[in-house]
Amino acid sequence: MRGLLALTALFVAVFGKETFEGHQVLRINAKNEAQLALIKDLEDIIEFELDFWRGVTDVAIPVDVRVPFHSLQSVKIHLESNDIDYSIMIADLQAMLDEEQSEMVSAARAPEPRNTESYDYARYHPINEIYSFQDMLVAENPNIVSKIVIGQSYQGRPLNVLKFSTGGTNRPAIWIDTGIHSREWVTQASGTWFAKKIVTDYGRDAALTAILNKMDIYLEIVTNPDGYYYSHTSNRMWRKTRKPNPGSSCMGVDPNRNWDAGFGGAGASSNPCSETYRGPSANSESEVKSIVDFVKSHGNFKAFVSIHSYSQMLLYPYGYTRTPCKDEAELHSLAKKAITDLASLYGTSYRYGSIINTIYQASGGTIDWSYNQGVKYSYTFELRDTGRYGFVLPANQIIPTATETWLALMAIMDHTYKNPY
Ligand SMILES: [Zn+2]
Repeated sequence: MRGLLALTALFVAVFGKETFEGHQVLRINAKNEAQLALIKDLEDIIEFELDFWRGVTDVAIPVDVRVPFHSLQSVKIHLESNDIDYSIMIADLQAMLDEEQSEMVSAARAPEPRNTESYDYARYHPINEIYSFQDMLVAENPNIVSKIVIGQSYQGRPLNVLKFSTGGTNRPAIWIDTGIHSREWVTQASGTWFAKKIVTDYGRDAALTAILNKMDIYLEIVTNPDGYYYSHTSNRMWRKTRKPNPGSSCMGVDPNRNWDAGFGGAGASSNPCSETYRGPSANSESEVKSIVDFVKSHGNFKAFVSIHSYSQMLLYPYGYTRTPCKDEAELHSLAKKAITDLASLYGTSYRYGSIINTIYQASGGTIDWSYNQGVKYSYTFELRDTGRYGFVLPANQIIPTATETWLALMAIMDHTYKNPY
């Protein structure tokens, strides 16, 4: 173990990976609106370099924020002098990342999987291994799975989508994406597991078989490949795309604020250094534009599910406006069914509701766009956990997370199949 950690340290030293020595993640609990406003003020102090893992919403939901060592004392003084309660959620972020890295280093010593049976679903994999997984799955199941390249990332990586289809042309379809925020590693890992689950269950599970006999499923696992690569090689906490912003030293756009739905409104930033930077214009990111073009040209999507972590929530439109969407009653009851099914496995508890009422106002979001395109069953998941590990969810939680989430996905897909429109 000690040897592995030393090896990790050497790796970091050689490749210049960003470290988070002394960084803590604080959980802040506001007692009232005035305290909430004082917490929000922290967002504007650029030199603190705070990274809000869970932003300011309302009094009921704690704020989680990564604080670099150099700002720790100032932030704590700010909170204490204003009588704001907080606790230290992660006392030593780098220690947690070292743990994660040492597991990956030992996993990397295992022989390369030759097929999707021997692929280790209980590990986090670098992008090249996920891409090989996709090719193996297609090669093993040519009658059900194909790979479509819907575009290229800014840095030229393919935007691969797995298409699960038993025939027909332009059948009604279900879209699922994972990893649009690159640091949310449990989502890409779950997406990989879903892909294997679909080919395994077809012909065995009655409900999935019925769905796939009438509908196609499209799954984009690595939706932000440049960010995912960067989160492995340089900065584990990277969320955005990797496109440079002219006139700024800060890189990347938040690809979940870049869609043409309330773009530029409240709940997104115009500052390129912000984690929620919306970009210069809607669809400025090829990772977003490629999905937009694909979904529009397909024209027959009936469900659209975009998967994030963390917080344990299932959300439906809208995020940019308080006006309820016209299908709110149906989306709400289906969300309730989905999270009830999810909880039936391990008791994992989810909140649910519209984005704006459940987390916060967010403009330019994925599922607001898909819903406005006429895709009624538009949902966003926030997978495990509620903050104990946040984005650094231990790999031994991947399979339990994917398995329980699959039950909720099946509820949504089954409802979509049974309620054609
Ligand atoms: Zn996210």
